[in-house]
Amino acid sequence: MKMKKLLSVVLVAACTLSMAACGSGESKNTGSASDDSDTLVMATNAEFPPYEYHDGDEIVGIDAEFAAAIADKLGKELKIEDMAFDSIIPAVQGGKADFGAAGMTVTDERKTQVDFSDSYYTGRQVIIVAEGSDFATPEDLEGKKIGVQLGTTGDIYASDTPENGGYGEENIERFNKGFEAVQSLLQGKIDAVIIDDQPAKAFVAENDGLKILDTEYIEEEYALCFKKDSKLVAEVNDAIAALKEDGTFDKIVAKYITAE
Ligand code: GLN
Repeated sequence: MKMKKLLSVVLVAACTLSMAACGSGESKNTGSASDDSDTLVMATNAEFPPYEYHDGDEIVGIDAEFAAAIADKLGKELKIEDMAFDSIIPAVQGGKADFGAAGMTVTDERKTQVDFSDSYYTGRQVIIVAEGSDFATPEDLEGKKIGVQLGTTGDIYASDTPENGGYGEENIERFNKGFEAVQSLLQGKIDAVIIDDQPAKAFVAENDGLKILDTEYIEEEYALCFKKDSKLVAEVNDAIAALKEDGTFDKIVAKYITAE
């Protein structure tokens, strides 16, 4: 990490000394994201089925396929970079990725850090508990141990104070992957997991002994995120509109989410 930082400082210095050494060809070779390259680099956290997850060596899911279709519309190749969820915004801000696609909710706080595309999906935060538990409403979980995925909206809401509808920082356990939170719940170490509805359904379907509380928690909008003032946003919004219009988006969703 330290070495990398040092290296980039040296590179920046070299660039200011000689602009010629830092043309777009050069930056392509180093794999960095750029508006003019033929590759679009997407930052994601592939631990979030059905939006993005590993299938063998591949990263698949709604976001992965939708982003590939968007890249195609823009005449570019898609390259996916997998990272921790809370690294996605820094990667986009730092130009290591052209955009982030990770079932990411549009929030006012994030809007101060990145620009968002038009929203392409509505998500919901839900609560997973053990099947045999007596928990029936969000209120039943006051003072209980709640698991969340680090840096997600579930984390933000749940760790807020009880007056603001949260459970209080002291009751929150944070995990890098949603599945790790679910595992902790299965082991009885925590009482509930707060996470987006579709991943929750996927985790509950894969594991016996869990259920999703039948109560609305919080509704949110997903969008792709970009570096502030990126010229890509307008182009991507056009692609999103076209792919929604011609049914491509619905087809991708139908492949990963079976209608209830
Ligand atoms: N929608 C949630 C958020 O934006 C969770 C996203 C995720 O875990 N990939 O914070």
